[in-house]
Amino acid sequence: MLRIENLNAHYGAAQALFDIDLEMAAGETLALVGANGAGKSTLLKCIMGLLRPSQGRILLEGRDVTAASPAQMVRNGLALSPEGREVFPDLSVRENLELGALVQKPGRKELQARCDEIYQRFPRLGERREQPAGTLSGGEQQMLAMGRALMARPKLLLLDEPSLGLAPLITDEIFAIIHQLARAGTSILLVEQNAARALSAADNACLLANGRVVEKGAARELLGDPVLRAAFLGSA
Ligand code: ATP
Repeated sequence: MLRIENLNAHYGAAQALFDIDLEMAAGETLALVGANGAGKSTLLKCIMGLLRPSQGRILLEGRDVTAASPAQMVRNGLALSPEGREVFPDLSVRENLELGALVQKPGRKELQARCDEIYQRFPRLGERREQPAGTLSGGEQQMLAMGRALMARPKLLLLDEPSLGLAPLITDEIFAIIHQLARAGTSILLVEQNAARALSAADNACLLANGRVVEKGAARELLGDPVLRAAFLGSA
């Protein structure tokens, strides 16, 4: 479904990604793990059309989408739940959700149906639908960021650090929802610093270090990988 070929990315003169090659099948959950600054968010930005790669290609279902805008990528079936949630604090939960479907311009009825679907998946958002998003807890804001991305009914969901700063119980809830989405057939690219957690949730995994892919393979195998264990799981 997604194929990344020989991709480089820069911020000004500084190179953040080097020769990234990556492939993802439809329905797969791929975990992208690595330390702070490894380039995980940068890769998601490139895929979503938020940052233009300086070299390489991004193919979605065989089509070259390297130069597509973020709005085009949403129309192509992608949605991003960004690191740090980035919900609009003064808008209500419902208004934040509606923004997720904006570029697809669904009619009123369709928009309502999509919101109702999100409230079913995240009952806490339903209970708080008219509440300003800024008054939600961190975990609820994470649910809202995911819900907003799901409003686009994506085939491929990009999740950037969904458990960042959340208490263990809320993290469990978020991962339970990630599992449900995966079971329902959504392809998921999951960026996490919590490597053990991400690998347990994923089919395949890719370890980034200093802007390069250093390991990739079946998530179960990477869980036992000495390089990865030494770097992220606290044992060799
Ligand atoms: P984190 O989990 O801390 O976000 P990451 O793996 O997602 O880490 P990136 O955010 O992709 O890492 O950062 C990769 C590199 O690019 C880092 O060296 C970072 O300093 C740099 N970088 C990221 N965003 C920018 C930016 N807007 N301008 C300049 N450099 C940036």
